[in-house]
Amino acid sequence: KVRVRFAPSPTGALHLGGVRTALYDYLFAKNQGGEFVLRIEDTDTARYVEGAEDYIMNSLEWCGIIPDESPRIGGPYAPYRQSERRDIYDRYKEQILKTDYAYLAFDTPEELDAIRKDFEAKGDVFSYNYQTRQQLKNSISLSQEEVQKLLDANIPYVVRFKMPVDRTLNLQDIIRGNFSVNTNTLDDKVLIKNDGMPTYHFANVVDDFEMKISHVIRGEEWLPSMPLHVLLYEAMNWEAPEFAHLSLILKPEGKGKLSKRDGAKFGFPVFPMDFKDPESGEIWKGYKESGYFPEAFINMTALLGWTPANDREIISMDEMIAEFDLHKVHKAGARFDPQKAKWFNQEYLKIKSNEEVLELLKEVDEVRSLNLSDDKLMKIVSLMKERATFVIDIYNDGKFFFEAPTTYDEKALKKAWNDTTSAVLKDLSVKLETSEFDSETLKEAIHHFAEEHSLGMGKVMMPLRLALVGELKGPDVPDIMNIIGKEETLARIEKAIN
Ligand code: GLU
Repeated sequence: KVRVRFAPSPTGALHLGGVRTALYDYLFAKNQGGEFVLRIEDTDTARYVEGAEDYIMNSLEWCGIIPDESPRIGGPYAPYRQSERRDIYDRYKEQILKTDYAYLAFDTPEELDAIRKDFEAKGDVFSYNYQTRQQLKNSISLSQEEVQKLLDANIPYVVRFKMPVDRTLNLQDIIRGNFSVNTNTLDDKVLIKNDGMPTYHFANVVDDFEMKISHVIRGEEWLPSMPLHVLLYEAMNWEAPEFAHLSLILKPEGKGKLSKRDGAKFGFPVFPMDFKDPESGEIWKGYKESGYFPEAFINMTALLGWTPANDREIISMDEMIAEFDLHKVHKAGARFDPQKAKWFNQEYLKIKSNEEVLELLKEVDEVRSLNLSDDKLMKIVSLMKERATFVIDIYNDGKFFFEAPTTYDEKALKKAWNDTTSAVLKDLSVKLETSEFDSETLKEAIHHFAEEHSLGMGKVMMPLRLALVGELKGPDVPDIMNIIGKEETLARIEKAIN
């Protein structure tokens, strides 16, 4: 049975890389008819951030990445918060201490610091490993009696992993392929801290075993931990899951890892919801507030490292689930392109029906306060939808539908206006007063008017547009007139010629 987990630490906001990991976890699990588990790894109390856990869960929900088991929903392997699983880790701590893969170490941080400095002074780098552990203060170098004395005196200790000596590990990663590591290059990592809490490595492996995780899919930054994790399974006599390490998401330039700062720089926040960044104290606006549709955001994210069949770019969550293949995830880093992200949203806006967009437009605060009829809003939507990237663009780029221009673009005035323009528009408005106001009739009326006065269409249309919009842009002028209506059209002309 395929069981996959996303195991974030509640240390801050979920960034794009985290969302992609969760998404690939989810797509793979669902493709395989398996389960997707959300586990909160909160054993590091120093880095814990209040609110981050809720934030992570809300973000995933917004994205449509819904766990089968989580701290919120519960499940057969609850609790799903590591801070509530202490008794389980205690049990396995006893178990690993009975093997030859773990030992107690009593060195104080001060002692280790001093040794580290000695090494540095000699131009060496200290590592707590197979070479140094005999000289340090632990249950390998000390006699049983000495260890017992320390324990009786309540001297704090940590549990360390005893890295096997000179073994070549042949490891397999679904994305990276096969690679080998000699254990002599690895150190004796702490498994249990001196306060009795497990470290990431120990808790993570124990929980993956306890929760029957079949595939560990996570970011590339965890690849160096894989040898230790595989050996922990060996130590406990457990079957190891399969591993897949996802490549980095790169800056738009293609070089270097995408960072939180990049998000701010591109005016393109990385986080899907309001969240105060613990480091900068900034409130990050997210994709959600920026107007992204969750489907567009998820579609964009999925393609950072995976290509659906026939290079299709627009693909729904269900289609992704049907097609996703972990073996086809790219080994190379994926470049994040903020322009492309916008393109995705635009495509999803096009796909939506005018009725759907109307409902979304009515939710925009500025629009809600105007109290316009659905009929009028619907006309605006059908004219403006094609050119918009976000729903709010329909309002921002179509402001002239909602209010008369207060200024006229300087350049446009030079181009569209001359000494006779006012008189022309005055004549035109007289004619319009008796005209029907549907777009077709208006188009004809303006045509006729231009012909009668032997004027080129531009000579009439441009100043008219300027009077109505304030600039030389927007949809067809008769369509604008139809929507704002006769009274408003005449008022705007009147204002422009005076
Ligand atoms: N808690 C780790 C993190 O925050 C989980 C890594 C893993 O998936 O093993 O990324």
